[in-house]
Amino acid sequence: DTIPANLIATAARFPDRDALVEFATGRRWTYAEFAADVDRVAHGLLARGVGKGDRVGVWAPNCAEWTLVQYATARVGAILVNINPAYRVSELKYVLNQAGVRMLVAAESFKTSDYRGMIDEVRPQCPALRDVVLIGVDFDDLRVDGDAAALDAIELSSDDPINIQYTSGTTGFPKGATLSHHNILNNGFFVGELCGYTETDRICIPVPFYHCFGMVMGNLAATSHGACMVIPAPAFDPVASLRACAEERCTSLYGVPTMFIAMLAELGELDLSSLRTGIMAGSPCPAEIMKQVIDRMGMTEVTICYGMTETSPVSTQTRADDTIDRRVGTVGRVHPHLEIKIVDPATGRTVPRGEPGEFCTRGYSVMLGYWDQPDKTAEAIDSARWMHTGDIAVMDADGYVQITGRIKDMVIRGGENIYPREIEEFLYTHPDVLDAQVIGVPDQRFGEELMAWIRMRPGTTPLTAESVREFCAGKLAHYKIPRYVHVVDEFPMTVTGKIRKVEMRAAAVEILG
Ligand code: ATP
Ligand code: MG
Repeated sequence: DTIPANLIATAARFPDRDALVEFATGRRWTYAEFAADVDRVAHGLLARGVGKGDRVGVWAPNCAEWTLVQYATARVGAILVNINPAYRVSELKYVLNQAGVRMLVAAESFKTSDYRGMIDEVRPQCPALRDVVLIGVDFDDLRVDGDAAALDAIELSSDDPINIQYTSGTTGFPKGATLSHHNILNNGFFVGELCGYTETDRICIPVPFYHCFGMVMGNLAATSHGACMVIPAPAFDPVASLRACAEERCTSLYGVPTMFIAMLAELGELDLSSLRTGIMAGSPCPAEIMKQVIDRMGMTEVTICYGMTETSPVSTQTRADDTIDRRVGTVGRVHPHLEIKIVDPATGRTVPRGEPGEFCTRGYSVMLGYWDQPDKTAEAIDSARWMHTGDIAVMDADGYVQITGRIKDMVIRGGENIYPREIEEFLYTHPDVLDAQVIGVPDQRFGEELMAWIRMRPGTTPLTAESVREFCAGKLAHYKIPRYVHVVDEFPMTVTGKIRKVEMRAAAVEILG
């Protein structure tokens, strides 16, 4: 199936159900209205000469127009290019040229960023860019009435590239994963299946649309099941997200762990009784936070997903009927119709169950390749089509997977392999710790030493290296006890809410002199 065919089928089955709600403005669309509006924008694209294979960039925080452009580009067979809302001039110019963007749909500004000014600045240096449409300024000009037959006549194949999604840039420069209808529509559908979505579900999506978590696990999971997409605010705001859940009677709520940590701190008296399920994903999901999400937010069926942009994204997910330990302590089992294996990165051989290795996956979800970067594609996908994720995982005898870290974040101290994740999990159990991250820093004697970065709960006394050592003594092996402790207000983050350990490592080198 293609994305437009799937949306048309959903709109035919559930025309009067809510499709999209913008909580901040109160704008809302039923499925019949949404499909009709998507068609209008698709006619607008055609009228401006955008056709199959052309790249259309979207550069905006979460808003209804983002979603309309997502489906309208698919309708005409154009390739949507997701542009990170945090980008500045040089990065914007890079993506526009790297992907050869012909038309850009953008917000006028966002927070302190003047998008319009930046676009004017880069435009002379982006030869492919012919057309710019600004949301809230001339977006309505893109809504053109027309005959659906003209759209239906466009020949689409489910294997066509439909989307260039840039990775988060957690470990370095973002890479553009090229994905087909088949890749992302199926993945969104199965994510929705495992969340048990039906047309009665209402999904609160505070995660960015520019990332697969928002546009695939959110939007495509919703539209392939007739569920409603609720946009709480343009950018993540814990209070707005919770209020949207309460007032829109959402049944599902998404977030990366840091977002759930922020929401748990703001629960107050809000009525969240409509919440049933949700997804935590994107970075290691602390068991302690999962337990609180279940107990305090009432998300009794919440699931954890693991995946990456390059694999549409989800590869494993917990199920609501898994045991509670597995639901909070693992990333679940392989997704339907996919293969996974854990290999020794040195030899490529599958490791015995229970032993760590690199997580690899194969199947419908693996991207077509990195856009215009065949060398990078060949590094990531081997000749047998296995995607090598760069993540270290352990699979138990029953197929449940734990992600123990990224190969790039593993610390080798005096010959011992240390997975920071294990230490972070332990530090979370300290009552004064709000959030903790552990990195390796260069050390003359051991090669690397551990440093913990800690965010304290308000009103508590900052921990010191000594007090952390005391807390860990006897509970963690001596070589896993952090030597250095650094208390901070915030961690360096990507827009997708991931902690940039690369930046922390660079800063640590400065701090330690
Ligand atoms: P880049 O590839 O640009 O460095 P990135 O890998 O963070 O950035 P994404 O594709 O957004 O870009 O994220 C995928 C990565 O996120 C995975 O490879 C994994 O390291 C991490 N991740 C995703 N879900 C989970 C999870 N549930 N538990 C632990 N890690 C996760
Ligand atoms: Mg990655």
